[in-house]
Amino acid sequence: MTNSFRTLDDVDVKGKRVLLRVDLNVPMEQGRVTDTTRLERVAPTITEIAGKGGKAILLAHFGRPKGRDAKDSLRPVATELAKVLGRPVAFADDCIGDAAEKAVAAMKDGDILCLENTRFHKEEEKNDPAFVAELAKLGDIWVNDAFSAAHRAHASTEGLGHKLPGYAGRTMQAELEALNKALEAPTKPVIAIIGGAKVSTKIDLLENLVSKVDALVIGGGMANTFLHAQGVNVGKSLAEKDLAATALRILDKAKAANCTIILPVDATVAFHFAANAPSHAYGLDAIPAEGMILDVGPQSVERVRSAIDDAATLVWNGPLGAFELSPFDRGTVVAAKHAAERTKTGKLVSVAGGGDTVAALNQAGVAGDFSYVSTAGGAFLEWMEGKPLPGVEVLRAK
Ligand code: AMP
Repeated sequence: MTNSFRTLDDVDVKGKRVLLRVDLNVPMEQGRVTDTTRLERVAPTITEIAGKGGKAILLAHFGRPKGRDAKDSLRPVATELAKVLGRPVAFADDCIGDAAEKAVAAMKDGDILCLENTRFHKEEEKNDPAFVAELAKLGDIWVNDAFSAAHRAHASTEGLGHKLPGYAGRTMQAELEALNKALEAPTKPVIAIIGGAKVSTKIDLLENLVSKVDALVIGGGMANTFLHAQGVNVGKSLAEKDLAATALRILDKAKAANCTIILPVDATVAFHFAANAPSHAYGLDAIPAEGMILDVGPQSVERVRSAIDDAATLVWNGPLGAFELSPFDRGTVVAAKHAAERTKTGKLVSVAGGGDTVAALNQAGVAGDFSYVSTAGGAFLEWMEGKPLPGVEVLRAK
């Protein structure tokens, strides 16, 4: 897949005005950036373009403003980015029009300029052709380095690719290469671990995965829906009982596709949804009527470990239990540590993504040991659902 995308290897950026779409959507409190992870991720592409004598003109959205709104200005983010890069980042108060055009005209080769929040214009999300044309005026080429926004066909994430020659930035390229190794052209057997709260948010994802992977572990609250559908009494556990037919359909589809489904065989049950609530492991035939399944049980964890041992590639989204509440993070932590160990010894390619998943892997202290951890929430899920991502499709070499 990745080979068919144009990258920075396919263009000489020297002297060119490079419109570079990045993800600057960092967490902020009282006007201060509280986590610079995303800035560190985009730094290599910016440094490379500037280092090769290109003019790096950064385009990004921030938050969900309805029109211009000072609290969603990218100015403080640009200041923080300059610290991460260790070099100056100029700022223009608008991403189109006079302010932007003057700032671009003043750039020298190797300079970096950040334009104001693209979403200050409602035309950004509408992918409005006149707005795209205004943006396109500012650049000679377009580089998309924002995988996390690639599931949206907005002006700066997709529209520009129809107006200017488009290339994947290094962060986008790394993401596409990792995803390619995980599902498109993986080393088999492939296992997926899918957890999280609800089946209803992950139906498309489950349906796509059963036809692609050799084994699928279903954990978390969503496993309860499957267990209920199979006739298990899940007590007061979180379960979407109205989705029993959907769950059975997914199980049938898995069977037809020769995908082994690994559901919990026991459960860790508590009587309150609270940290350190007293809990016990129960077999599936003995879940107390007043009990809540808050994690997969010890035998289930062993099954997941051995399923990971059987796999060469792992794709993971969603925790196996209510991991925010100790000790109900146990299943997730044990499985994550095991996957990390296998990865470190070169026996497993492991790719994980999604907001809670990243938090859970950090909690287990192993995010750095996975082959790749995607911080892109929505885009990662849509990719797992097998949907084409507009911001990626437009980079495909024609
Ligand atoms: P998601 O965003 O769909 O990946 O869901 C993540 C959320 O699912 C986390 O907040 C977990 O606490 C929650 N979760 C996972 N397992 C359970 C469970 N057995 N009961 C209740 N919530 C759960």
